[in-house]
This record gives sequence, C-alpha cells and structure tokens, in this order.
Amino acid sequence: MTVRAAVIGGGIGGLVAGLALRQAGLDVRVFEQAPAVGTVGAGIQLAPNATRVLAALGVLPAVRRGAVEPTAFEFRRWDDGRVLSSTPLRAPVESAYGAPYLHVHRGDLVAVLADAVPVEVGARCVDVLPGDRDVELRFAGGRRERADLVVGADGIHSVVRQVILGTADARFTGHVAFRGLIPAARVADLPVGHTSTVRMGPGAHCVHYFVSAGRLLNVVCVIEEDSWTRESWTDHGDPAELRAAFAGWDPVVRALVDALDAPLKWALFDRLPFARWSEGPVTLLGDACHPMLPYGAQGAAQAIEDAAVLAACLRDAAADVPAALARYELLRHDRTARVQELSRGNATRFHLPDGPQQRDRDAAIASTYGLSPDIDWLYGFDPLDPGGRVHH
Ligand SMILES: Cc1cc2nc3c(=O)[nH]c(=O)nc-3n(C[C@H](O)[C@H](O)[C@H](O)COP(=O)(O)OP(=O)(O)OC[C@H]3O[C@@H](n4cnc5c(N)ncnc54)[C@H](O)[C@@H]3O)c2cc1C
Repeated sequence: MTVRAAVIGGGIGGLVAGLALRQAGLDVRVFEQAPAVGTVGAGIQLAPNATRVLAALGVLPAVRRGAVEPTAFEFRRWDDGRVLSSTPLRAPVESAYGAPYLHVHRGDLVAVLADAVPVEVGARCVDVLPGDRDVELRFAGGRRERADLVVGADGIHSVVRQVILGTADARFTGHVAFRGLIPAARVADLPVGHTSTVRMGPGAHCVHYFVSAGRLLNVVCVIEEDSWTRESWTDHGDPAELRAAFAGWDPVVRALVDALDAPLKWALFDRLPFARWSEGPVTLLGDACHPMLPYGAQGAAQAIEDAAVLAACLRDAAADVPAALARYELLRHDRTARVQELSRGNATRFHLPDGPQQRDRDAAIASTYGLSPDIDWLYGFDPLDPGGRVHH
C-alpha cells in the first residue's frame, strides 16, 4: 500500500520534503497556509551540504540559473573595512565537496521547487489528530484530510509542534536584524564583489552578498536591542535607527545602510534543541524542530538535509512509519543541535568589543577559518549516504 504523506508548510523545507518523498515513492500532498507560494524573503546561502541534495533531486540546474556563486568568504573589520580573512570558494569548494556554494533569493528557490512539486495553497492546518489507523488533519474553514504520515514543515511557529510537543519557549536573543535587497546598479560604485562578506564590530555586524543572478545585493545588518515581542518576517524598521547604529563604521557599510530604503526588521529568537520531535506517525522538519540563529547560514540547508534523510528512511521502511520516523529523528538530532550551537556561538563572536578578545578572535579567523578539515563535518556531509559519509 502506498503511504499517504501530508507535508504541512510549503517553505523550503516542506517543498524539498515533498519532492524527496515523491521520489521515494510516497503519495505526497503539500499544504501551505499562504494564498500563493511565497516570494517573500531575501537572501539564502546554500552551502554544498544543501546543493548536493538539490543536485540529487534534479533541481540544481534550475536553482543555479538564478543564483550567484560567490568567489570567496570574507571577514572584515568594522571601522576600516580591513580584510581579516578571505577564503576562495568556487573551484576549491567544488573540488573539495563535489557541489557548489550558492547564494539565492528565497523567492527564486521557492519558485523552482514549487515547479517541481504541487502545492495546495490557502490550506492552514489548525489541528492534527492521530487515530488508530491514520491521522486526521483539520484546516481553517473546516476542511479535513487524512494521511498515514504527517510532516510538520510549518516553520518556527509550528502548529504541528504544538500539537505533538506542546508549546516551547523562545528566548529573545537581544539581536535584531535589518535586511533588504538593493538593486546592483545602486551599489555599482561601491567596492562590493561577489563575495559572502561578514563585517564584524562591537555589538553589531553586517552581512552582504549578491542574489538573483547578480541583480540584487542582499544586506543584513544586525544590532542589539533590549526587548522585542514579535517574530515576524515582514515588519519594517526605521532607517534612521539603522544609520545611527552604524554611524562610526567604514564608509562602505554606511553607504549600504543608506541604500536600504525600507529595511525589514526581524527580531532573532533562539530555542535550545528539543529532546525529541516525532510522535507515532507525526514528525517535524526544518525550523519547526531546530530553529537556529542565521549566523551559520544553515537554516535552509539543515531543512534540506532533513528532507533527504526523511525520504531515505521512509523509502527503506515505509511499512512501519513510526519506526522510520524514529530513525530519521535519531539520524538528525545531534547534527542539527551542533549546527544550532555553532550559530549561537557566532552571536557572541561576531559582536565582540574592540580589545583582547576581539584580537584573539581575529587571529583565530585569519589562521583557521576556511575550507579546512574543521568544516568538513558541515559541508562534506552527505545525507543521501546511509552512513552520512563526509566528502573531502
Ligand atoms: C516569509 C519568510 C521569509 C524568510 N526569509 C528569509 C531570509 O530572507 N533569509 C533567511 O536566511 N531565511 C529566511 N527565512 C527562513 C528560512 O527560509 C528558513 O530558516 C529555512 O528555509 C527553513 O525553512 P522551513 O521550511 O523549515 O520553514 P519556513 O521557511 O518558515 O516555512 C514554513 C512554511 O510553512 C507555512 N506554514 C506555517 N504554518 C502553517 C500552517 N499552520 N499550515 C500550513 N502552512 C503553514 C508558512 O507559511 C511557510 O511557508 C524566511 C522564512 C519565511 C517564512
């Protein structure tokens, strides 16, 4: 009997899960609450651990058409823009890991994925009711559906998580991100290349890279604030507040901040790893089960890895869905917790005040950061390999 899978959420994680589960032979439906598949969002970094999965699913060529392949990772100092470390990407990444490092617009990636897997939009799941034989799903407006397997890929505020685990506390990190996309022509006079650049300073940092085949520069500026009550992707920030926060910075950063006309403001919340995230035939994926700060640029990548591992577990053991989900969780838990930890650590590292600790950080970045064996565990991981083999 073909397993009927319902994926709740048509974000990056849900769409990749839909595609991977179909390719694994399941009968899959993807339910998205929004009235249309979203073009909302800005830049997403896709490291080789994610692009390896997209290649295996057959969508990498289409993703690549709208992407930018950065030439290098750069860390720069806040006040004079001095390069602290620069790691060449492109050919070295391909030769080390057999897959590219890409920058994409979230909307471009979602559009490619939504072409490959049908999505039922306008379907907001409000309850999940596991029964003896299968699971009933309830949607806003009264619609009901049934499935043998439910995957909650419904993001950081997951309804499915609330049903199976109860509400988990989120902690405001004190970090607030202003972000936006600047047309390339507006920054043509600035020395910003096709790099992945992080500019670190006391209590703040700025990240920029091009997306959409180089037409747009994605800029994220993170500052520290005392309190916040929302966790939304669509609130606007005050450009004057942003300019004040970066007033003493290198002129390139000030020019980028000036060019962000209507930045979105996005508070950053953190959650410690959950002990578990599956219950019988219901499981979670992506931000629903391991939300992370964006400082490792791995939120989307980990959701993509989850999808690949989930599909592999179900392909092998679709006759016993709960056992397959338990195996999926086991294979994913420690790795995603490690990436959450890495991202949390960067929250402190990126914002150190001038002084000895900052100098030690900069010396460490200059000597160890890059495509060293230290990063193989992250970029070299192959979720399609049963043993999670590391390429290098
Ligand atoms: C609007 C938006 C913009 C983003 N922009 C960026 C960005 O610019 N840069 C960045 O690095 N990361 C961004 N992210 C986060 C990034 O996409 C995720 O960290 C990563 O891709 C993991 O994705 P996910 O699929 O687990 O969750 P999400 O990307 O959060 O996707 C969850 C999906 O589930 C849907 N959903 C939620 N609840 C329900 C429900 N009850 N019923 C049905 N559907 C539901 C949501 O509408 C959404 O489409 C954004 C996320 C969102 C939702």
